[in-house]
Amino acid sequence: MRVDGYTKTIGLIGNPVEHTLSPIIHNGISERMDFSETIPNRKGNGSRSVYLPFQVQAEELQDAVKGAYALGVQGLNVTVPYKQLVMEYIEETDEAAAGIGAVNTLVRIQNGHGFRGYNTDWEGLRCQLQDDGISLKGKTVVILGAGGAARAVLYLCLTEAAEKVYILNRTLERAKELALEFGQMGRILPMKLQDAGRIEDTDLVVFQATSIGLYPNVKDVVLEEEAFYSRIAVGIDLIYNPAETRFMQLVEAGGGKAFNALKMLLYQGIRAYELWFDLKVPEAVASEILQELKARLYAGYRENLILIGFMGSGKTTVGRLLADRMDMEFLDTDALLEEKTGKTISEIFAAQGEEEFRRLETELLRELQGHLRNTVLSTGGGMPLREENAGLLKQLGKVVYMSASPEEIYSRLKDQDDRPLLQVEDPLGRIRSLMEERKSRYEAACDFALDTGGEAPGMLVERITKDMRQ
Ligand code: NDP
Repeated sequence: MRVDGYTKTIGLIGNPVEHTLSPIIHNGISERMDFSETIPNRKGNGSRSVYLPFQVQAEELQDAVKGAYALGVQGLNVTVPYKQLVMEYIEETDEAAAGIGAVNTLVRIQNGHGFRGYNTDWEGLRCQLQDDGISLKGKTVVILGAGGAARAVLYLCLTEAAEKVYILNRTLERAKELALEFGQMGRILPMKLQDAGRIEDTDLVVFQATSIGLYPNVKDVVLEEEAFYSRIAVGIDLIYNPAETRFMQLVEAGGGKAFNALKMLLYQGIRAYELWFDLKVPEAVASEILQELKARLYAGYRENLILIGFMGSGKTTVGRLLADRMDMEFLDTDALLEEKTGKTISEIFAAQGEEEFRRLETELLRELQGHLRNTVLSTGGGMPLREENAGLLKQLGKVVYMSASPEEIYSRLKDQDDRPLLQVEDPLGRIRSLMEERKSRYEAACDFALDTGGEAPGMLVERITKDMRQ
């Protein structure tokens, strides 16, 4: 980053600010976008802006805002605990921020004095919902929590024409106050958290907007009730660290789709930058910054991950989910071989035999060396049987052995007729003997083993990513 006389200062005020990810977003935009034409007669090629976190004490908040203006600061983000308090020290407030009752972005007023306050949290969430194909129109929404973030979520729900919004909070009074403040009693229904079981609506969209489940307390969840989770169609956790919270796992276990809100963080930042500099941040820049946020947050996730294990151990299902969650590519060696040979696996087995199939697998692994980046690779069940393959797999990435009992494998595969090795009279017996033969090979070939023991794919993804961090 080059700072010259034209470089504008932007930043964050809050307390604490040490763990903020916002510099990645804002300095990332500045580094990636060419602003040379936006300032006529500019000499040199300094950065458009530099973003700095400022830790501010509550009693100095007013001075900090005044001082920032006096210093020519172009704009500020505001974080906990000042999103409401700061409204006392600014000249104007945008309509949405006034409706939400909180400001997270201050923009220098052009040809005037002081700052105008905006709330880009709700817009960030709106962009995320668009990205993830989630509509709130006509839906029954549940917001867990009634704090600052819940306000932005509630505003979005009303703007996007949700039919009914339950606010479930530990402190009922706070939920009631929020409902009253938004003035739509009847449409907004405050409830105590533990009354979640009384909600009878189905196809719910649920926002988890409490601070429960945040890293490092990743096992915590604000509600456990299975009946509640079975009514959820989509669950969005505003927490993005860990990548998959316990809330998200429970949503998935109940049959719903689950998302974290890292994109909300990204888009609220992008929207703030657009307001500060009156420009549009290109999608390609947004997507690069999202990658960078993930790399920073979910350290250790970026290398290739190789899943091995017996057929039916969940390599494909878990692998796809993992790739999706971590924004990695998903590849499957069987699918790659079918593509390469133009034949199905069964056809290769029938026409050329198992030995030739294993040779083709080895050939494929050699071809993949040096070409896999940020990929989850699911492998055929017999892949590590050749000693040579075991070595090649380790060179490709971290190898995870997914194990399951013969009975579980059998129950998953018994209705499939495309498994050449199981076309026998006693498939369970065959699974048992093959697994016995292969177990030591799998164990020798892996970096770590994962007993899938009847767990939901979402839980397994969380366990794999946790193991990778160690
Ligand atoms: P607040 O402190 O304003 O609110 C916290 C909420 O959590 C309240 O509803 C509180 O309930 C509830 N809560 C706290 N402890 C418990 C508990 N032990 N049991 C039940 N409920 C509890 O926080 P914010 O609203 O600012 O933030 C909430 C979460 O959203 C945070 O984790 C934050 O990181 C995340 N967030 C994410 C954003 C993103 O961009 N993705 C943006 C903003 C926030 P009560 O009223 O009873 O105290």
